[in-house]
Amino acid sequence: MAFYVYKFGGTSVGSVERIKAVAEKVKAAHDAGHQIIVVVSAMSGETNRLIDLAKEMQVQPHERELDVLISTGEQVTVALLSMALHEIGCPARSFTGGQVKILTDSSYTKARIRKIDDTRIRKHLNQGEVVVVAGFQGMDEDENITTLGRGGSDTTAVALAAALHADECLIFTDVDGVYTTDPRIEPKARRLERITFEEMLEMASLGSKVLQIRSVEFAGKYNVALRVLSSFKEGCGTLITYEESTMESALVSGIAFNRDEAKLTITGVPDLPGVAYKILGPIAEANIEVDMIIQNIADDATTDFTFTVHRNDYQRAKAVLAQTCLDLGARAVTGDDTLVKVSIVGVGMRSHAGIASTMFKTLAEEGINIRMISTSEIKISVVVDEKHLEQAVQALHAAFHLDQVVATR
Ligand code: ASP
Ligand code: MG
Repeated sequence: MAFYVYKFGGTSVGSVERIKAVAEKVKAAHDAGHQIIVVVSAMSGETNRLIDLAKEMQVQPHERELDVLISTGEQVTVALLSMALHEIGCPARSFTGGQVKILTDSSYTKARIRKIDDTRIRKHLNQGEVVVVAGFQGMDEDENITTLGRGGSDTTAVALAAALHADECLIFTDVDGVYTTDPRIEPKARRLERITFEEMLEMASLGSKVLQIRSVEFAGKYNVALRVLSSFKEGCGTLITYEESTMESALVSGIAFNRDEAKLTITGVPDLPGVAYKILGPIAEANIEVDMIIQNIADDATTDFTFTVHRNDYQRAKAVLAQTCLDLGARAVTGDDTLVKVSIVGVGMRSHAGIASTMFKTLAEEGINIRMISTSEIKISVVVDEKHLEQAVQALHAAFHLDQVVATR
């Protein structure tokens, strides 16, 4: 007998038929003698519908009331799933996040979980019931309803698995696992058996939207074995776990990309202390997030400074920078918002040299110009023109043999 947390996303509970199918899956695990907590999202599209309703009332909806509203999507699905379970003879009981004491801070619409009191859940599990918990929500100290940010049901599931020491947290979704890259770009992309928390975090933050990033951080922190798998197809999905020496582990585990890059350059900046701050300070004040930053070696006491922002922030950032250019007496501001970022990710990079040169050689052979480069311990990113995205991803996928299962290193 094992103890599992199952989580089903919006598509998996998107209709009455699908909720019935979820109930069958849960019943099968329960019949096999396992203890099961099920966390569900709202039916697909429902959270967006509720947010749109709120916006018809107020352009900037009152945040406390917005959370009261959007938490209802999940309340619908826990009730329907419990009914479906009762109907097929499986004992079940639904709860909102607040009812099972998922205590959060008071940051409405992006609350963080502080504590979970497991008493009530334990009691019902011990009575042989399936416990069905609404994802995405909790309650603050004053019993206000809070929500955990878009995609937050993943975090509810991981937090419950951590607090109650479940054997595994299974995230059932519309993809059958984590892939070496997006199969729509590279049809030879392969499902990974395993990936480490660190790699998954890089893949997630670089734009592979399989899991809410916060849920992966949480799982890593509390060492929750996390599995991503399909609700529609049989299969064991991808296990996200700590690095083990026996792991199937290539040098590079995956290729992530981000289509929304833009880059800005300010040239002829006087090379003096405090210049980086004078350039990026106003950008931060305008609430614009900066990703890569490059400052060139000073030439004639002036330097060039380049950074990237999200494409949606490009025009605003350019206006801010134009003012800074005047203030600093710099030469000019240039930019480009038709760029993408392509990154190779793998814990194997830590212990192996030559990965960067393989990446650059591959891109050179394709005639792809690299505009910017940045590296971290387990990742190398390049910024290239958007027209090269597919070509770069496919060439790198082949160069690092990601279409083949690689022997352990
Ligand atoms: N229903 C919420 C959302 O759409 C939470 C979730 O699905 O995880 O963001
Ligand atoms: Mg989701």
